[in-house]
Amino acid sequence: MRFATKQIHAGVEPDPTTGAILTPIYQSTTFVQESVDKYLSKGFSYSRSGNPTVLALENKLSNLEGGAGTACFATGMAAIHGVMLAMLNAGDHAVVSDVAYGGTYRLCTKIFSRFGVNFTFADTSSPDAVKEAIRDNTRLILTETPANPTLKLTDIAAISEIAKAKGIPHAVDNTFLTPYYQRPIELGADLVIHSTTKYLEGHNATVGGAVVSATAKLDEKVSFIQNATGTIVSPHVAWLTLQGVKTLSVRMDGQCANAMAVSEFLETHPKVDKVCYPGLSSHPQHELASKQASGYGAMVWFEVQGGVAAGKKIMDSLGLWTLAENLGSVESLVTHPVTMTHADVDEAERKRVGITDGLVRLSVGLEDAQDLIEDLKQALEKI
Ligand SMILES: *Cc1c(COP(=O)(O)O)cnc(C)c1O
Repeated sequence: MRFATKQIHAGVEPDPTTGAILTPIYQSTTFVQESVDKYLSKGFSYSRSGNPTVLALENKLSNLEGGAGTACFATGMAAIHGVMLAMLNAGDHAVVSDVAYGGTYRLCTKIFSRFGVNFTFADTSSPDAVKEAIRDNTRLILTETPANPTLKLTDIAAISEIAKAKGIPHAVDNTFLTPYYQRPIELGADLVIHSTTKYLEGHNATVGGAVVSATAKLDEKVSFIQNATGTIVSPHVAWLTLQGVKTLSVRMDGQCANAMAVSEFLETHPKVDKVCYPGLSSHPQHELASKQASGYGAMVWFEVQGGVAAGKKIMDSLGLWTLAENLGSVESLVTHPVTMTHADVDEAERKRVGITDGLVRLSVGLEDAQDLIEDLKQALEKI
């Protein structure tokens, strides 16, 4: 079956007791056992260890990413934390993309570093830089592509090949493109991470996360952490996410087309210095974007003349675009990474990886493209 069919039907069966077409929200702590001998005969014991609504979402995501199993988490950060706990011990080393979600960087430098795990933040857009960063005790390579917020790309197949040769698992944060546009497991990755908060749920209604594993063995390791740490997603959030995923391809195609229109408008505007969108032929890795994904996503950034002051003025002058953290929802949002999403990244590290003070990040939504462009136009006239 093709993607649009699978996003609706995979993992979901009509409820066996009532025929309800949607998997119900199984809001129950515990599950009654038939007898001591038939313990777990229906598959569930206690909702931290497994819940039917959560399982329906896990099965759907495994199907869409082409994985052997999925563990859903309370948030995207809980999912990344789950992967790190499953793969790393004290004394181990991990290679992480130097441009990544701000929370990923914080988790490495402020938490895992306290437990004797060492990190190299490498430019994973360069396979040679990854090779150089690998040490004898490297036990995880974690990449994010396109990266938040600079939209730098990592060649998933090239890094997976390097990882495989060394027997190191390669985890890819696929939040920005989703399995509709990019399927890292097909390109050789071992683990796929999602903040389902973003495009998968898509309506600014929940926070959630997921880890899809290429093999049952890896899934067992991640699921063990999910149960042992209790960083699970609630049945209600899983249910909302199940509904969101059904329209993923339609939303992504609409948002991607809007992102292209907005980028083209910004690229020709005299007050805009720089526009970055992987769909533009001016993007330095446009070719790689076209090779490893079937769409370019809906994240864009630009810089205006006048630096931080002008950037702030634009963000405060926008009407339809909402100033808020988060991305991937149907509502168009604008963010200033330096003061918002990446405030916890050291200033020197931000400068090194290209998160400049004047960078304005757009998460393009599903409104009419012309309305989005007109709002940007009036805000740009104010500087
Ligand atoms: C938002 C985000 C996360 C963290 O997800 P939460 O659900 O907010 O915890 C991780 N990675 C990327 C790429 C993100 O955009």
